[in-house]
Amino acid sequence: MSISMSRTRGIFLAFLGTLGALGGALNSTALAQNAPVPQPSVGKPTGGGAWSAQVKAKSDPAAKPRATAIRLTGDEKRTQVRIDVTRQIVASLFTLDAPYRAIIDVADLEFRLPATEGGRGKGLVSAFRYGQFQAGRSRVVIDLAGPARIENAAFTPAAGKEQGALTFDLVRISAAEFAAIIGGTPPPEADPKLRGARHDETPLPALSAPSIPPGTPPAPVLAPGVPPGMAKPRPVVVIDPGHGGIDPGTVASPTVTEKSVTLAVALQLRNILLQGRHYDVQLTRQTDTFVSLDQRVRFSRQHAADLFVSIHADALAETGLAQAVRGATVYVLSDRASDDAARRLAEKENAADVLAGLAAMPASVEDQVRNILIDLVQRETANYSATFRGLLLANMRDRVPLARDPQRSAAFKVLKQPETPSVLIELGYMSNAEDLARLSKPEGQRQIASAIATAVDAFFAKRDAKLER
Ligand SMILES: [Zn+2]
Repeated sequence: MSISMSRTRGIFLAFLGTLGALGGALNSTALAQNAPVPQPSVGKPTGGGAWSAQVKAKSDPAAKPRATAIRLTGDEKRTQVRIDVTRQIVASLFTLDAPYRAIIDVADLEFRLPATEGGRGKGLVSAFRYGQFQAGRSRVVIDLAGPARIENAAFTPAAGKEQGALTFDLVRISAAEFAAIIGGTPPPEADPKLRGARHDETPLPALSAPSIPPGTPPAPVLAPGVPPGMAKPRPVVVIDPGHGGIDPGTVASPTVTEKSVTLAVALQLRNILLQGRHYDVQLTRQTDTFVSLDQRVRFSRQHAADLFVSIHADALAETGLAQAVRGATVYVLSDRASDDAARRLAEKENAADVLAGLAAMPASVEDQVRNILIDLVQRETANYSATFRGLLLANMRDRVPLARDPQRSAAFKVLKQPETPSVLIELGYMSNAEDLARLSKPEGQRQIASAIATAVDAFFAKRDAKLER
């Protein structure tokens, strides 16, 4: 397994210095009552950590705030960011490294930005993206051209024709300064109420399933390899629609994104599988929300999945090849990628968490405990995964265009499941006009979902026949 060496780095944001700018808008009682609360820690980073502070402004509980524009001005030394919002917001700002990013978290912010907005950078901002991060929490992730500090963060209430706005500056600093700031100690002038307001970058569990404390041994191996007679009444199939929320995946157009295609196909697949009443079908996400790769794997384990199907759609960056390369591919886990393209794809998909503004996680104790047991079962699991990949390709062949070399393997994080046969399906290339047309229409989505469903049936028929021998 790979061990990430990157550390979480953050900058404590001394918001108190900006309170004056909030003027009468600030409700100081609310600030005291709403002093930041450390996030629940599930496998939280051991070193570093990001610091943040929050400002609670007066709020009208009836209206949900909306962001209507994100404006960038300035240059590579100092870049001003202005986020226009329809009402006052509670914001939490911090920075991360590996790569350098600035994160703005806001409770329940809706984004009503022009479709063209996002991606275009200026000055210290190389790109930005936004969306739901978890239920009730929205996020803007700003990719920085280099190490930077957040300064002058303030909320300006609406005045005259100007909308209210969250504004702040990004100021270029050296890598050494960035590293020095984060030593873990907030500036001494910080309010004691805010001290220790460490913003742990572990996301709140977005899924209803109970979280497993670190160090808990893995769930018992139920299948494959379960003794006959002990099999669960209905096999559990976990469908994993790729991306979501702040992480759109491949963006073909403002309305057609990988996250919307994968969710549509996943919902169709669930409907088809539920019709037969043979399976307990679970989805890692059912709405347009962000779910980390770690949460997806944990979700599968908590449900003791018998089969895990991750759904994605690929795209080629090289426009010259875009119309020539098309078709679906199916991946299983391997530390050695089947080819360079497979390796690059896995790296791209594995970066989903980074894109959404999660800090890189060091290997946790949980992982170490699990590793001891992994070898015992993963060979058999890998065999089952490869069997399912074969069945998928056989069933998809007649109904869905396949890529020229559709049977592949690579080190996808989401496939690292020692107990559960797991595959990742790239439905096709969103960079190819024919594939895109098929993937963005309900009929095309239904076709591919039904091919996958047939393969699921074939898989369990085969597995159960083997177990009964
Ligand atoms: Zn993807």
